[in-house]
Amino acid sequence: MPHSHRSPFFCIHLHLPHRRSSISSLPKRRKSSQLDPPLPPKPRKRALTIPRSPSTSIPYTIDQSSILFRLPLEIRRQIWAEVLGGYVIHFIIPMRVLSHFVCSAPEKVMCGCRINEFRSYGKMAPKVLSVLVTCRQIYSEAIEYLYSANTFSLLYSNHLIHLSTLLLPARLNAIRILRIRWAIRGLPYYIRPGGYHFTFREDTEYWQQSWRALAQMRGLKDLRIRLVDTVWQNQWLQLESRLMEGVKEVKTPRVFEVVLPYAESELALDVGETACVFRRPGKEVEQEVEEV
Ligand SMILES: [Zn+2]
Repeated sequence: MPHSHRSPFFCIHLHLPHRRSSISSLPKRRKSSQLDPPLPPKPRKRALTIPRSPSTSIPYTIDQSSILFRLPLEIRRQIWAEVLGGYVIHFIIPMRVLSHFVCSAPEKVMCGCRINEFRSYGKMAPKVLSVLVTCRQIYSEAIEYLYSANTFSLLYSNHLIHLSTLLLPARLNAIRILRIRWAIRGLPYYIRPGGYHFTFREDTEYWQQSWRALAQMRGLKDLRIRLVDTVWQNQWLQLESRLMEGVKEVKTPRVFEVVLPYAESELALDVGETACVFRRPGKEVEQEVEEV
């Protein structure tokens, strides 16, 4: 799909067609708008981003008299990162529309924001985002910094899968810092005594897809995941090494921390060639978000 078919999530709400995908065709156990997979919007007639090749010169969009465009490109990029970056942002997908709110406790690696209370939180200031719609040239230069210069924090793990549908690959790959608060509901890989199949087939499918989605985020530098489970302790501990096999595919982040759900969790699990470090709950390190 050409990249012009999808829109920047901050500037334009994505009104998505009501259509079912392969994920939604799986049996549903719960009714929640957060579980309904969104789909990409209709194609845009003209790409918002100016193509970088064969020439970066786009004279018809640039006001050559502007002092801004007399600055070196590198300086302008620093300006865009400064203006658009530095936020901790939660994605939300209410009613199949990709949206966001700004974290209320950005100083913490794992904040206390609640996804169901998103209406009480604020979005990025329109004045900040208005930079992007100034002109096509600025949009093309600056849009990547909306993703690369901010921290993204998912409060609902299934959003991982939907992001690859809703965001351009270039935007998804621009994300460098990602936090996930990952609540376990139906335990993946669990088979009830006497059973032959996964008890929670949908959750198992989402679990596998989520780890694959993380592995495909090529720009990810700093990934911290906090697994939360309050129901399945014995079963989790028995399945823990299998549950954590997905980390071995996530090779890109230089900083990669997974906080396991239990004090009895095993820290010496195989992480392959990744930088993954396991921690027990309460032992996570609150760190400044590093510059990556
Ligand atoms: Zn938050």
